[in-house]
Amino acid sequence: MSSTRETIDLRSDTLTLPSEAMKQAMVTSPLGDDMIDVDPTVEQLQADLARVLRKEAALFMPSGTMTNQIALRVHCQPGDEFICDDQAHIYHYEQGAFAQLSGLSVRPLAGNCGCLEPEAIVDAIRPPGLHTVTTRLLCLENTHNRGGGTVIPLDLCAELCETARSHGLATHLDGARLFNAVVASGVAAHEFAALFDTVSVCFSKGLGAPVGSALAGSREAIEKARRYRKLFGGAMRQAGVLAGAALYALHHNVERLAEDHRTAALLAECVRRSPHLTLEPERVETNIVIFRVAEAWGGDAARFVARLEEQGVRSFPFSRRHVRLVTHMHISTDDALKAGEIVERIARERA
Ligand SMILES: *Cc1c(COP(=O)(O)O)cnc(C)c1O
Repeated sequence: MSSTRETIDLRSDTLTLPSEAMKQAMVTSPLGDDMIDVDPTVEQLQADLARVLRKEAALFMPSGTMTNQIALRVHCQPGDEFICDDQAHIYHYEQGAFAQLSGLSVRPLAGNCGCLEPEAIVDAIRPPGLHTVTTRLLCLENTHNRGGGTVIPLDLCAELCETARSHGLATHLDGARLFNAVVASGVAAHEFAALFDTVSVCFSKGLGAPVGSALAGSREAIEKARRYRKLFGGAMRQAGVLAGAALYALHHNVERLAEDHRTAALLAECVRRSPHLTLEPERVETNIVIFRVAEAWGGDAARFVARLEEQGVRSFPFSRRHVRLVTHMHISTDDALKAGEIVERIARERA
């Protein structure tokens, strides 16, 4: 990864490839038909995740989008509305599936890196009446992707969930990167999970599995989710071949997320030193670094990304003026330092 010729790919933490040990876990996992009876590896993953999150049950699914959309369906009926922040993945990056698949509407609220005001939630809850949809659910995201991998602090999560609950709303956590929040904050996963009715997690982001997510919650919620998983086309047969990778990820790859946070901090330092670039948000708490490219640099974010690519660093333009870098298990300290140097050089050279 450190030769000058090789690309340093910072586009996403979904790029990670399974290690030899993870592949070994996949091929040696005991399998069965998870629809007809059980797949023992899927069962074990679900039981282990439920134990980690201290929820009654969990359910394995192919993607984080599916866990989120099924959670919405578990909590809401067609004609209902849910509240989330206006940068949420569930609102931005899932094709409005809540409307397409479940007939729901959404009430996006302005937030600060996924942090909402309790008062704003209360104001957004619709009074009962013939004219209005029914507000059913609050959905939070932790860490927050478009918010630059920011951790929503436990006490704020607690306050927001308590506000929702006291007004009769259910609560769901999009925890695609919950374990990044856990490692960065030192708060146990079950402490976050305890605040929410349902929690989704992804094994295919920083945890390094090729495929897989899971939804956790009460036995009753997960029984409903199992029916919807079949409806949504996500019920799989010998899924243990995938769950084996997720199980390996859950037991071996959580603590090492601290490495990704460390390499992201190294990148952030280089961005801070660079003229024309501003970290937004300023604090880099986990593995996502987002920076703004000033007009004075001479080009937009797409131009900056193209310049990085010429130098072997891959990134995503995140808006017309923002670039996103994400660290993951294939990014070494050397890679981060080299990529950071390249970012700084391009910033100084201008477009
Ligand atoms: C990646 C991600 C998801 C789910 O993505 P899939 O690609 O469907 O697995 C959900 N929420 C957040 C915050 C994510 O970053």
